[in-house]
Amino acid sequence: MTKHIFVTGGVVSSLGKGLTSASVGMLLERRGLRVRMQKLDPYINVDPGTMSPYQHGEVYVLDDGSETDLDLGHYERFTNSPLTRDANYTTGQIYMSVIDKERRGEFLGKTVQVIPHITNEIKSVIHKLASEDVDVVITEIGGTVGDIESLPFLEAIRQFALDIGKENCLYIHLTLVPYLKAAGELKTKPTQHSVGQLRQIGIQPDFLICRTERAISREDREKMALFCNVPLDAVIEERDKDFSIYEVPLSLVDNRLDELIIKRLRLPSRSLHLDDWHELLHRLRNPEHEIGIAVVGKYAEHFDAYKSIYESLDHAGVKHRVQIRIGRIHSEAVEKEGPARLLSGYDGILVPGGFGERGIEGKVDAIRFARERQIPFLGICLGMQCAVIEFARNVANLRGAHSTEFQKDTEHPVICLLDEQRNITRKGGTMRLGAQAAKLDPASISAKCYGTDSISERHRHRYEFNNFYRQQLADQGMLFAGLSPDSSLVEIIELPNHPWFVAVQFHPEFKSKITRPQALFAGFIGAAVDRHLKLRERPAQPDAS
Ligand code: GLN
Repeated sequence: MTKHIFVTGGVVSSLGKGLTSASVGMLLERRGLRVRMQKLDPYINVDPGTMSPYQHGEVYVLDDGSETDLDLGHYERFTNSPLTRDANYTTGQIYMSVIDKERRGEFLGKTVQVIPHITNEIKSVIHKLASEDVDVVITEIGGTVGDIESLPFLEAIRQFALDIGKENCLYIHLTLVPYLKAAGELKTKPTQHSVGQLRQIGIQPDFLICRTERAISREDREKMALFCNVPLDAVIEERDKDFSIYEVPLSLVDNRLDELIIKRLRLPSRSLHLDDWHELLHRLRNPEHEIGIAVVGKYAEHFDAYKSIYESLDHAGVKHRVQIRIGRIHSEAVEKEGPARLLSGYDGILVPGGFGERGIEGKVDAIRFARERQIPFLGICLGMQCAVIEFARNVANLRGAHSTEFQKDTEHPVICLLDEQRNITRKGGTMRLGAQAAKLDPASISAKCYGTDSISERHRHRYEFNNFYRQQLADQGMLFAGLSPDSSLVEIIELPNHPWFVAVQFHPEFKSKITRPQALFAGFIGAAVDRHLKLRERPAQPDAS
């Protein structure tokens, strides 16, 4: 029978529930258990696909094309749990499904209510992940205990224990134990209050995971155990990691959380081996060089907006034993101050995906700088589209070349709407989404990086390279290194007369793991390291221009 673990959060948001859930998943997998991960989000949007990255951070895309919460990125990076649409539900989806049933007459004239109809629907999406081949389902509840909107979810997981038996599920509550400078001590009261609220609605947490800046004394742990009604060893300290998120599983193991969960749920398990993980952390802590990568985007100040990209850079850094200093450069600043001022100190330039016209010219300028100065360049989605615009304008002399996303009547629409998008007006899940196959030119850098000429990567876009310009740009030296299987869509462009210039229509950042850095990121960082080492031997000549 599948067991269930529920993870809730209290006191404040952004405590790292996603990371903690992913770490628990990883530890249980390494104990030989088959794990599935799931996140339930209390907001009303049907999915985060229509939300601004300022509001919600990155939209994480799965193979099946679902647009999901960025915590699913942590799940994929830490575990092997196969993620599909069923791994992320929102209040919006739950209500939509209940209202659909009501319209179909499935409730036979009954009054449709939060309890039991909404809560039943929530329980059914949790049950969906359980099966004979699954030992444990870990369900993270988004938001913070005490929010009005999370109440139906908490009520549903309370009922869940009644339905399947208390011995078959457990609750982990993640809280903050803040350090008050003025008092010179850690404060446990917010945790007591947060657990108090949970208990009021009938959930007694089995484990408290306490995020803290400083070590929690035995006395404070005893206090929390007593007031929160949990055994002392169930009060787990999770110290802030100034170093790396990949340390989180290790700190949970130090507190024997894996062992305690296995005992509590009476799961069969084998012993835990983390040698490879320790080795990766050792590499991470002991880089041989430091290189700088500029990420030039519109959401530079918002760390969560390019989360998977920053992670993928770090993974590739571990592979090459380099520390990566990531420069988060605002593309509008490039417009104002010029690329040379902002980008000169970097060994590689990356332009990520995005929507909307703001900052576009700064991205184009940054790409021109990378192309002309022979700086390794990786363009992703909108980053590829901007690379095409730049090349068309400045190499192929197509004046005013642009994407019709930004200039409808441009003289040279080198990027235009995908055919399949022409009649789509509704938003939400309507882009070209998810895993798509591509074939690579065997002579390309990309094929070398991947070590194969057929790949599958995840997409999220409405616009594409305009094939009308294929020959013209090829004549000027652009290589169409990756195409859709029927050759109708350009998936990768490269510039063979540049040390490393690769731009892709898809999102390679969604498939990178610290244990398996994504091929193009690994190649990009490899090229940046080469440049760094060469420049160190022979410092760059002062710029004459
Ligand atoms: N806005 C562009 C498009 O829709 C790029 C999308 C992206 O970068 N994800 O095609």
